[in-house]
Amino acid sequence: MKRIASMTVMLGMLLGMPVEAEVPAHFSAEAKALLANSVKLEESEHQLNVIYFLGTDAEVVPGYERRLSELLLYLQQFYGKEMERNGFGRRSFGLPMKENGEVEITVLRGKLPAAEYGYDKGPSKTLEEVKAYFAAHPDKKRSHHSFIIMPTFYNAQYNDKNPGGVPFYGYGVNCFALDYADFDIKHLGKDTPEGRLLTKWYGGFAHELGHGLNLPHNNAPASMNAMYGEPLMNAGNYTFGLKPTYLTPASCAVLDRSEPFAVAGDKTTFYSDGLPVPEVREAKLSYEDGGMKLQFMCKGAFTNINVYVQDPPYQVNKDYDAVAFCTTVGEERWDGFRPVSVTIPRKELNELRSDVQRLDLYFIAINGNRARWNMEFKWSDAEKGNVSIPENLSPSRVGY
Ligand code: ZN
Repeated sequence: MKRIASMTVMLGMLLGMPVEAEVPAHFSAEAKALLANSVKLEESEHQLNVIYFLGTDAEVVPGYERRLSELLLYLQQFYGKEMERNGFGRRSFGLPMKENGEVEITVLRGKLPAAEYGYDKGPSKTLEEVKAYFAAHPDKKRSHHSFIIMPTFYNAQYNDKNPGGVPFYGYGVNCFALDYADFDIKHLGKDTPEGRLLTKWYGGFAHELGHGLNLPHNNAPASMNAMYGEPLMNAGNYTFGLKPTYLTPASCAVLDRSEPFAVAGDKTTFYSDGLPVPEVREAKLSYEDGGMKLQFMCKGAFTNINVYVQDPPYQVNKDYDAVAFCTTVGEERWDGFRPVSVTIPRKELNELRSDVQRLDLYFIAINGNRARWNMEFKWSDAEKGNVSIPENLSPSRVGY
């Protein structure tokens, strides 16, 4: 974040006090209070593109620059604190900043009336126009990742009190959210109509942004939920701002190699084609002490491996229940392979009901690419030691 150090910060540095990020003077009192315990995040090499997209007949919702800046900065802090708690450093998605402490939001006027970019029309027209804009203004493209916000429709069905009509989802490197008059952090956590509406749309904004930063859905082992609340990429969109909501270690492992989380000086070419998927050898499964143990040797330019276990069905939006485990990776041996080991205690899956489940390995490459491999198994077989895994696995690349 590019800011001019204030007297307070400089004094704090001189006195050896913790230095906190500054909150712009024109932010609301509520935003100042919420951002008061902000931590200083590491500088980013790349930033999220923040686009306010309008049809020919639409207008920005008044106050959007302050409101969206406050909401985005609070979310940036949430992601940054969760990354730190999970051992990945004080890192969050970079945001393009203006001198006045607001987020730089690019207003982009589409070629068609707003209705043509509605939820029912799909994202392709909007994404084509965003792509054309970046082709004409390459200096405005800060990373592969774009956060695209549209004002609510105003028609017989939708308005500021019942916002909607526009796209609201995230996938690949893009996510969509909406703006409306009371989309303001001053309502956060309040038991009022505006407060409940804010949790719905701000929690959704936080969750969809996760998808746009590469995150799949996931749940966490039961003991972790008991400690920290609701994972953002499970049903955290309904709890964010109201109840404890958190990022799982598996989510943070993905964000660790998401382009907008790269720290200044990280010159990785993100999402390039050149990186082969990891090689897996000597895989074996065993059952001991009430859990399944998976071990294999792995070679490749990966940083972390997540393992997800879930009930059928498995397709997107049926995968909220996928319980995520992070693996440990050992020292490299003579042939470049590293040992990987993960234990999946049955009792940690107590929200899962089916005997048949899927085991899903998710490899995160240093350049942000991901590869997956999965198999179905039955717990009743696993408990008898009757589940086997092919010795050599071939993960295939997914996503961007
Ligand atoms: Zn989702």
